Amino acid sequence: MQDIQATTQEYDNGKNSGKYSIRSMALPKISIAKQLPYLSGVDEVSMPKRYNRQYYKIQQPTKEKDLINDKEVFGSLTSNNEELYEDRKPKDLIGEDAYRSYYHTFKNIKRILEQNQFENIQSMHRLSLKIDSVQTNLIQRSERLRILPCKMGLIKLKGDRNSLSIQNQKFGDKYVEVLSEGLRTLPAIQDFNFNHNRIKEQGAAQLMPLISKQARRIEFQTNLIGEKGLDSILKILPLQQCKIQILNLEDNNLGDQLIIELCKAINKNLSVETLNIAKNKITNNAHQSLKQLIESNDTLMELYLRWNSIKGSGGAEIFKALQINKTIKVLDFSYNLLGCGNVIAPALKDFITENKVIQHLDLSANSFTQSDCEIISEALKYNHSIYGFHFRGNFGFVDSKGFLIIDSIMKNFNSTHIEQRIRGVMPHPKPYDHAQRFEKVRDVCWICDNWQMATFEWIPNQSGACADEPIFIHFDYEGYDPIFLGKPVEHGHFRTHRMIPTGDIEYFYTANSIQVASQSVPIKQHIEKFRTKVSIADQVVNVLIDETNIESYSKSKPVIEDWYPNYDVLPRTQDPIYIPAKRKKQKRIWTYPISIWAPKYKFDTEELLRKCFERDCLLKSKKNRIRFKEMLWQAYKPMRETYRFYASVNPTGDVFSMSVNPTSDFVNQCQLIDQKQLKLADVDLKFIATCSASSVDYKGNYRNPERSLVRYQMMEFLVRVSDDKYIRFNPQINIVQATKMMLEQCMPHMSQFDSHKWRAERYFVEQCDDVCKKYKWVFDYVYMRNSSRKVKPGQAPFMCLDELKDICNKANLYDENFVERDVNLAFNLSTLTQIDELESDRLFQMQWIEFMEAVARIADKYSPIALGKKEEKEWTYELRYQQPLFYKLEAFMVHLINNLVDEETKKNWKQPTISMFDEVEEDEYY
Ligand SMILES: [Zn+2]
Repeated sequence: MQDIQATTQEYDNGKNSGKYSIRSMALPKISIAKQLPYLSGVDEVSMPKRYNRQYYKIQQPTKEKDLINDKEVFGSLTSNNEELYEDRKPKDLIGEDAYRSYYHTFKNIKRILEQNQFENIQSMHRLSLKIDSVQTNLIQRSERLRILPCKMGLIKLKGDRNSLSIQNQKFGDKYVEVLSEGLRTLPAIQDFNFNHNRIKEQGAAQLMPLISKQARRIEFQTNLIGEKGLDSILKILPLQQCKIQILNLEDNNLGDQLIIELCKAINKNLSVETLNIAKNKITNNAHQSLKQLIESNDTLMELYLRWNSIKGSGGAEIFKALQINKTIKVLDFSYNLLGCGNVIAPALKDFITENKVIQHLDLSANSFTQSDCEIISEALKYNHSIYGFHFRGNFGFVDSKGFLIIDSIMKNFNSTHIEQRIRGVMPHPKPYDHAQRFEKVRDVCWICDNWQMATFEWIPNQSGACADEPIFIHFDYEGYDPIFLGKPVEHGHFRTHRMIPTGDIEYFYTANSIQVASQSVPIKQHIEKFRTKVSIADQVVNVLIDETNIESYSKSKPVIEDWYPNYDVLPRTQDPIYIPAKRKKQKRIWTYPISIWAPKYKFDTEELLRKCFERDCLLKSKKNRIRFKEMLWQAYKPMRETYRFYASVNPTGDVFSMSVNPTSDFVNQCQLIDQKQLKLADVDLKFIATCSASSVDYKGNYRNPERSLVRYQMMEFLVRVSDDKYIRFNPQINIVQATKMMLEQCMPHMSQFDSHKWRAERYFVEQCDDVCKKYKWVFDYVYMRNSSRKVKPGQAPFMCLDELKDICNKANLYDENFVERDVNLAFNLSTLTQIDELESDRLFQMQWIEFMEAVARIADKYSPIALGKKEEKEWTYELRYQQPLFYKLEAFMVHLINNLVDEETKKNWKQPTISMFDEVEEDEYY
């Protein structure tokens, strides 16, 4: 067995790989004989060498199973020469026994024939002449014709015993003779497939009379059946007993005259359901016969006329008949000349609007004019029964709902030749290809592409906070164009049922004017954020997408099964159309959950802070431990906020930390220096002690700089200082009491730094939400272009401190009122709380939601004058600073657009002259 495998490999690697196989009777003598000693007799069953070459030509590569089986059977037979030859025994034609008996017959053909002859002579006396077996017939005829014997598809390992398939073999007429010989003794076969076999008129004339009476299916594509070959089919077609259901005569060079004959024969036929006469040089001369066929035949369901030369005038007549036809469901009229003569449009329009039976229609590449295409497109809007429509190689494309969208640029005609063609209502799916994520799918056929129905739903308070229309859904395969979900259905849900392609579908929603992923279905985080243009009503916005919903749809039921649709969605049903309410301000009650921040912003919770505290509080003393810890916890929040402020003043590179100067500053502000118990020099010593004490544990960790205090050290520093200040001269005081006194002393100063107060009072308000939503595209634009400097390959984008400083520099913000320290502060205060600041770089990596806040903090400090108010008064910095944040933020966004956004992007943007908060509602009393 190992040897055989080695041999097989040799074939595969050899010069003849791909062409060579030992499936049929051709004897694998070449190398097997050399390598397998027990096959040494093979050479004697000699086959003239030249046959091998011929054999390559006529054989197709075959499956491994087949290959091995042939060898095994052959091997076992050659080692067993003494079997009895009984040609008269009934033999199966399918399975391994069939193979065995075929080889057996081959090897012993001479003796079998002698035996048969002898028996026949004997039976002559009994007057019952016996006929030879199929095996014997095949081999005997081959020998007589001096061609290589072949099983001719009659003897096979598996399959249906009612069908015969020898397509793509290029057998030619000589083998047809062998086959005919085999067929004489085989009345059971009903399905015949002879496609692509070089069979000419002579061969067909031999074959067809043998099969036409019993055939249910005749596939005879790409042969040359000719008049004589067609004759027996023409004779059987009009008869009551005709069984032919499928007749495929594609590419037989029939021409008009034979087609006319064929049409006449099928006119009154009662069995044919599928007729394929594609590629047969049919011209307008045959149109009358085709029309009559369509008018008088009642059984035909699929008609293939592809690749003929039927022009507009003939086509118009045919479509008049098709318009009222009640049986034909599949029509392939592609690659004809229907557009020629400019007369087809009215007939096609009537056909498409009136016919309710056609389910699959191919009109590709028909030289239609653009106005023809427009008429067809218009007519299709009223048709809801054509589930699959093909229109390549004309003007326009078929969209995901089956509409024909007219496109004035015709796609490259040549590329359409290789495209799939329709085959009944069978799917041959191509899953949706994500490489084209930003493009709308084109040339969709629900049937061929095996689309399926799916339901998408926005559930208020589950998918997201938004509960009011308009809500839109954006699919990747639609190029993210918005689809309006219309009015809510039961329970206030917004829903759409639609046909979608197979594969992964990515989508998001627009709810409350923000692009969001629904929280009630799986979400995909995109490491590489992408931009997409979203146009809603008259507004085009450029949005940044970092997460989408994702759902995977595997291949499902076909769209049409047994001629009935499986899904409820009708082709070409319009989605609801969104008409924006007049500029009337919507009476909505603003709440934080519907804001732009709600989906992404994470508030500091008690639990989170407690975790931070546990991380920072490294108490060594065991005495009073619980009380001590509880006391520190009470002061932890202001302490941490204070630290954040002072750490932003003079960070060590990217690392926010309190160097010696800000620390002294803090000590002074808290009025800890009293020149008696505590001097500045003592504080410096404690500062150094704190720094060096911990540098042992975090040596080499750049997030814990040697000459600065980081978050957890702030607490330690305060405890150390309290020791100096309160215990050194009053030893009766213990450390817990001393620390308590220290915290009481510092608290008035420390309580000023609550960074959340600013958020709650100035930033998380309705007007700022309006500004952020309106200018979200600017946040996106600036963030995307400034979030790469320190990003490593494969890492999600983030903005580093230097990049934020660059933005401020490019926007010309720096002056005596706005300095670099303000940028540090904006960056650090906007960063969401991290439990462990020493183990992760997250603190230095600003995310989009944090960037938005940083911009607001910068705007607040920079304090630009509100839009349209420059002339109002003499603006000092104080007056500027006192304006509400939303005015400042709005003016700041405009400032950013003018300084940072390229001309192409702001082409559609109009410089506002007045603040959105000062616009007069024109129809307020409407
Ligand atoms: Zn199709």
